[in-house]
Amino acid sequence: MPGEALQLREQILGALFGAAVGDALGVPVEFSDRAALERNPVAGMRAYGTHSQSAGTWSDDTSMALCLAESIVSAGWDLEDQAARYARWAFEHYMTPHGVTFDIGNTTRAALRRYRNGTPATRCGGTAEQDNGNGGLMRILPAALYFAGAPVDTLVQGLSDATAVTHAHARSRLASVYSGLLVRELLQAVTAAAAVRETARLLRELAADGSLPGGLSAELPSLARVVDRDPAALSRREIRSGGYVVDTLEASVWCLLTTGSYRDCVLEAVNLGGDTDTTATVAGALAGLQWGLPSIPSDWLATLVQREELEALYQKLTEVVVRRIGDVPAR
Ligand SMILES: [Mg+2]
Repeated sequence: MPGEALQLREQILGALFGAAVGDALGVPVEFSDRAALERNPVAGMRAYGTHSQSAGTWSDDTSMALCLAESIVSAGWDLEDQAARYARWAFEHYMTPHGVTFDIGNTTRAALRRYRNGTPATRCGGTAEQDNGNGGLMRILPAALYFAGAPVDTLVQGLSDATAVTHAHARSRLASVYSGLLVRELLQAVTAAAAVRETARLLRELAADGSLPGGLSAELPSLARVVDRDPAALSRREIRSGGYVVDTLEASVWCLLTTGSYRDCVLEAVNLGGDTDTTATVAGALAGLQWGLPSIPSDWLATLVQREELEALYQKLTEVVVRRIGDVPAR
């Protein structure tokens, strides 16, 4: 359990840096299978590997989250501005660690091409079954923080809309809504298990009330393993860690519930293999909220590429979020 003195700012910065650090831990071994990582587990920041990047290099997950964070800080809540910044990242290398966009998903690229060709942001996202990769979920944290103090209906609509800019299928939008509700609970709950239980209860209640936006209720069974069951009871073998949004959500919640520190949570996420950077991005955000910024190993933080630029933006976003939630200790 985190210390009583854990403050709201430490939780928010813990989530933002926790996600970026998780991303960077996962980048060198993205696509590695679980058996290979069991033989040679990741224990800290590595260089090179899958994308031949220097240690501490973060990927599309963090780039897109930075676009969203910068948009919120400079434009408030504006889906067109969010889409415009994602497109600058995809096609102009904006918000990249070394000035080059080296990793982009198919659904994201297609949606941002539509945006560049004049489609409104609200109509760009892919709606096909195969558009349920984790590219919406992986970047949603700044929006989840922005809406953490808002009425639940506002949070649900905001996260659904923000996801739909690239990933408009109801399942992808629901996964982000779950994540937003969990972020909100983790900012208040005493334990991760209590936060996960309350998130599931609330989501079932919203679905039963008919207060979820179009199509989301019908997708609730897709999230059954985190909404109707205790995810902590799943065995490691039952946890999949590829690029499917449901797998990423389940894996990150499972890592949060079955480990006792930020370090253990993100290393477990990476060493599941597969889409290592994204699983660890999502898990790292949750663990950062639960354990706070001081729990993130300082040598990992120091290794992050553009650490000072990240810090400046994260501080600005934190102030926006704190103002919206109210400047009080979270617990
Ligand atoms: Mg990535």
